[in-house]
Amino acid sequence: MTEATRVLVLNSGSSSVKYQLIDMAGRRRLATGIVERIGERSARLVHTPADGGRRERGGPFADHRAALRAAAEELAADGTGFDSPELAAVGHRVVHGGDVFSGPVVVDDRVIADIEALVPLAPLHNPGNLEGIRTAAALSPGVPQVAVFDTAFHTTMPEYAARYAIDVRTADAHGIRRYGAHGTSHAYVSRRTAALLGRAPEDVNVIVLHLGNGCSAAAVRGGRCVDTSMGMTPLEGLVMGTRSGDIDPAVVPYLARTAGMSPDEVDELLNRRSGLLGLCGDNDMREVTRRVDEGDGAARLALDVYTHRLRKYIGGYMAVLGRVDAVVFTAGVGENSAPVRAATIAGLEPLGLAVDPDRNASAERGPRFISPQYASVAVAVVPTDEELEIAGQAYDLVST
Ligand code: AMP
Repeated sequence: MTEATRVLVLNSGSSSVKYQLIDMAGRRRLATGIVERIGERSARLVHTPADGGRRERGGPFADHRAALRAAAEELAADGTGFDSPELAAVGHRVVHGGDVFSGPVVVDDRVIADIEALVPLAPLHNPGNLEGIRTAAALSPGVPQVAVFDTAFHTTMPEYAARYAIDVRTADAHGIRRYGAHGTSHAYVSRRTAALLGRAPEDVNVIVLHLGNGCSAAAVRGGRCVDTSMGMTPLEGLVMGTRSGDIDPAVVPYLARTAGMSPDEVDELLNRRSGLLGLCGDNDMREVTRRVDEGDGAARLALDVYTHRLRKYIGGYMAVLGRVDAVVFTAGVGENSAPVRAATIAGLEPLGLAVDPDRNASAERGPRFISPQYASVAVAVVPTDEELEIAGQAYDLVST
């Protein structure tokens, strides 16, 4: 009998599905793909096997079922269909698990109902995730469907870190508390950082800075999250590409009263027209730093607001953790932008943090230190791999 060591990872959004086929035996990526603009005439599938030979197909893919069926055909053409005996599980990224899910679970009717009940907390994400689960389950009967939640890693936060200081009855009646996000990335990167330090995850305290389009920080003590910057929604915390991060909540009713803005308009302002974009008109950090180099004042201010907020979180989490072994940069900006890393750590030398300019500028891609030899707290860059983490969690769950 063929041993089932492959996991298909699905990240199913409202109008797109991204997938990766990963062989856990060698932690090898066998194929990646994306179906975009599901339901539109311009829908398109791009499938890339690891050994090259990118294939494209036009739509129409009327719905998630049609999209996943096309992906299944592409995967089958490479040898691993949805009914392949080599497929150990399908691992699904699910954005919000509320306080219901603290780890990966094999999907059954109860799990689907629970994810559905959490839709009000993630109206843009959980419905698409559910659609992917239902469709994949129908296409691959007999293969365990595993839900891996972006919030799960943060369920270890102590109550005093998860609570907002508002009336408890109102909070509990509406599920208002801090759930965090990017948990799969924080879990992967914090564990990988422990390996880089040559120590067990239980023995290290790290601050992970996930800086992509969305940005979040996490304080991780001995492999468990004790605080994170995103809150009930992914709007709280750091300055992001288009999101404000922390803001005085009184701004919301103030805008309603004085500018006549509706709740949806304020939501749109804070989520889509704020952050780097709101401050300087660009949300891509490459463009922001290029403009800074040219002496652009608005871009300079945007970068300063961004890195100032980061330093406040780093300092805060150093106080939360007491002892910190490493501060780690990850995701699109964190992995690629040496100027952002340097500007973030600048001035933190009295706290034991420093960046070595040559190490920081190195073109090396893998996990690496960028702090000088003498620094008492390591500063590192560790590329994130959420798909590998989802595959690993799903595989561990079904094979134990
Ligand atoms: P992610 O959400 O992790 O995919 O990150 C996407 C973001 O990473 C983009 O919006 C870019 O701003 C940023 N990014 C990607 N490459 C670079 C780079 N070389 N320098 C600075 N920022 C980058």
